[in-house]
Amino acid sequence: MAAKNKERNPMEVITALAKRRGFVMPTSEIYGGIGSSYDYGPLGIEMKRKIADLWWKEMVRKHENIVGIDSSIIYHPRTWEASGHVDGFVDSMVDCKKCKSRFKAEDLVEHVKKAKGLNELPLTPDGENLDPDNPGYAQLPCPKCGNRDTLTEPRNFNLMFKTHVGPLEEAADKVFLRPETAQGIYVDYPQVQTVSRLRPPFGIAQIGKAFRNEITPGNFIFRTREFEQMEMQYFVKPGDEDEAMEYWKEERLGFWRDVIGIQGDNLRLREHGPTELAHYAKAAWDIEYKFHFGFSEIEGVHNRTDYDLKRHAEFSGREKDLQYFDDQTRERYLPYIVETSAGLNRGMLATLLDAYCEDEVDGQTRVVLKLDPKVAPTTAAIFPLTKKDGLPEIARKIYDDLKLDFNVFYDQQGNIGRRYRRQDEAGTPFCFTVDHQTLEDNTVTIRDRDTLDQPERPKIDALPGILAEKLRN
Ligand code: ATP
Repeated sequence: MAAKNKERNPMEVITALAKRRGFVMPTSEIYGGIGSSYDYGPLGIEMKRKIADLWWKEMVRKHENIVGIDSSIIYHPRTWEASGHVDGFVDSMVDCKKCKSRFKAEDLVEHVKKAKGLNELPLTPDGENLDPDNPGYAQLPCPKCGNRDTLTEPRNFNLMFKTHVGPLEEAADKVFLRPETAQGIYVDYPQVQTVSRLRPPFGIAQIGKAFRNEITPGNFIFRTREFEQMEMQYFVKPGDEDEAMEYWKEERLGFWRDVIGIQGDNLRLREHGPTELAHYAKAAWDIEYKFHFGFSEIEGVHNRTDYDLKRHAEFSGREKDLQYFDDQTRERYLPYIVETSAGLNRGMLATLLDAYCEDEVDGQTRVVLKLDPKVAPTTAAIFPLTKKDGLPEIARKIYDDLKLDFNVFYDQQGNIGRRYRRQDEAGTPFCFTVDHQTLEDNTVTIRDRDTLDQPERPKIDALPGILAEKLRN
């Protein structure tokens, strides 16, 4: 029945819906907004929190050997020297002197390949051997305005946001906003392991903001400069990391598919080729969603070896503290780390795009977000059929009895059909309607968002149990 929206650009459609219904909107719009920064509105914050809570449940509550932390955003600046971010967290950018567009050097060849006139290119780079020092960049035509000899040579640019602690902006006080949450886990690991009495394999999880001064943010909330990560670092005995990678790859793919409800055909696992691997990684897999611009990463599963702990041992001089001591075998070693690193905002975007449908109902186009009930901002809407005969009072009482345990919404304005449509667009899976039969037998209708059926009339006191069942993992 449901026909996916194919004609228009799905990102534009979802961006408009997100703004119209208060999922996600540009920040500080009264001042014209600020590039690629977004605020989450009443529906968006509910959905984002649900995804985050499901992740937490999946990682921390499901696994006895995983605990959570919440570390600060500003770490000791030596953290970023040790991690390699001060020297290595750079992108290479190219500007067009004519139209002022800016490109990531690594994206440029792809842009140009896609653009018209490829065959006339003076060079045909293969896209695999991108070298930031390659002087050939300046000869490529600008993918935006098409002019030649207007591109600058690539310039390296550190993606970390810098700021100062304290009133004096002296070099010694320079700090960074964290570009990933992982390092906060590494530097806290000895304490967390001790207080929680963990033995490898064990994990430490955290959800929090990360900041990257991206050169080319865009695609709505796909790439922003401020975003949230859901990361789990899994500490294993050296030699056990391959098995851990296998386990976590499948677990994480299963999370997006079975828990969040993204269609399996739109997800895939992709292994990084040798040229793609980050400096710290021995193996890396991306979980990718089929966006309309191509399969792209929503989460990475990385074998980071003992690189990070080794570096922190070296830079802090606290090697012994960072080693794990096995009191049974009397062995002392630096654990290897397998990381699962997901983008909360990017995952939410994939979930929204995946759920968007349009179909025809009663000769009209119906917009519906077929979100899994677990991630839908509102689980059930409660309506009185009319404003008369005591129906609103009964409906309100149902709402009041459910509201502390479930996300429910009360609405008595307008005709019932329009009220249903508004909930379809917000992704609300169930609507309970109080009608005249309720006065006789204490039952309500349940209208299913996807089938439009109203298969049963449960008693009012059965509603909490029905909702709890629908939300079960
Ligand atoms: P990309 O190649 O897209 O820049 P990445 O490989 O640098 O991503 P990681 O460092 O592995 O990303 O970060 C883990 C996750 O954090 C990504 O899978 C993504 O979901 C999210 N993420 C990274 N950068 C951003 C960003 N600028 N905006 C939103 N989410 C991001």
